[in-house]
Amino acid sequence: MDPIRQDATLLLDRLLSGARQVIVVGHTHPDGDALGSVGAMTAYLAEKRGLTVRGIFPDTPPETLRFLCREDFLYADAQREASLRFIGGSDLVILQDCNNFTRTEALAESLRASLATKILIDHHLNPDRDAFRLVFSTPDVSSASELLYWILLDLPDVAGDARNLPADCLASLMAGMTTDTNNFANSVFPSTLQMAGGLLAAGVDRDGILDQLYHNYRENRVRGMGYFQNEALHITGQGVAYMIATRSVIERFDLREGETEGLVNVPLSIGKVRLSLFLKEDKGFFRVSIRSKRGTSAQQLAVRYFHGGGHENASGGRLFFPEDIPSPEEAAAYIEQVSSAFLNE
Ligand code: 5GP
Ligand code: MN
Repeated sequence: MDPIRQDATLLLDRLLSGARQVIVVGHTHPDGDALGSVGAMTAYLAEKRGLTVRGIFPDTPPETLRFLCREDFLYADAQREASLRFIGGSDLVILQDCNNFTRTEALAESLRASLATKILIDHHLNPDRDAFRLVFSTPDVSSASELLYWILLDLPDVAGDARNLPADCLASLMAGMTTDTNNFANSVFPSTLQMAGGLLAAGVDRDGILDQLYHNYRENRVRGMGYFQNEALHITGQGVAYMIATRSVIERFDLREGETEGLVNVPLSIGKVRLSLFLKEDKGFFRVSIRSKRGTSAQQLAVRYFHGGGHENASGGRLFFPEDIPSPEEAAAYIEQVSSAFLNE
């Protein structure tokens, strides 16, 4: 069940033992898995290994996920100098929940240039193996948090017993896995349920985590969701559902970062829908979320038409204007055209 190679964990143990200052890096627009897995690793390295460690992200997480943020996190958008200084002084870089440095955006250049030993812990396809000394990569787990759980259990000081991990570490792992599986709705493997059982047995307060994740939104989110499903949901004859959150709608409902999270999944509950896209307007581009049912590849659509990638049934990317479409108003026509071409292939 344990998806980790023993020799890889032994090398990880050796690299950690030789390290002094460590940086654990997550991707831009951090989600629950990025924050959870980075938080878990940071808690382990600080509390069990006594290392000087920081979790670093290119940008500040949304309010909705702030409960997963540790005091030792740095955000490059608000703390650029401190972030670059910490990278410069680190002898170990651990990248988690993304498969290359490109998704660390403003940090990518200094991370690539760093002479520190580099480790990757990720569950996406196509890892950039050449950029790392040690790679833990498998798409056959729910999340980076799950992969990290199995790695940590294999380390000598944890010795297969989750109770040897700090409480913060365990809670972060549970939160990261829960968000990436959409609370056990997708990407659930036998190892995922084993992990969940291990975390519960070790005392994690799962109900408390669920309250933070799913029962703590502002009213605006629910009202905005109602609008999108009523007024802004389009479904093509081929079963492609899409919703476009323009700036004016975002302002009308005062939707903050993170408050449209999960909306892209809703249309998949309709039998005839096989692909769902949610577009959110930003400066000069739309952020694109894509979900698909079995037999249709969200990942391929993201790679081919939205400069993105991700997992087979859950991917994302961007749609730029005026580069990809002349103006934001053309987004609907673009989606209809490329999804039709994609499904007719
Ligand atoms: P979400 O729709 O929740 O933002 O993202 C779903 C998944 O798509 C993420 O877990 C990530 O794997 C992938 N993803 C999202 N945005 C991008 C992007 O801009 N580039 C790439 N390569 N993958 C993305
Ligand atoms: Mn993930």
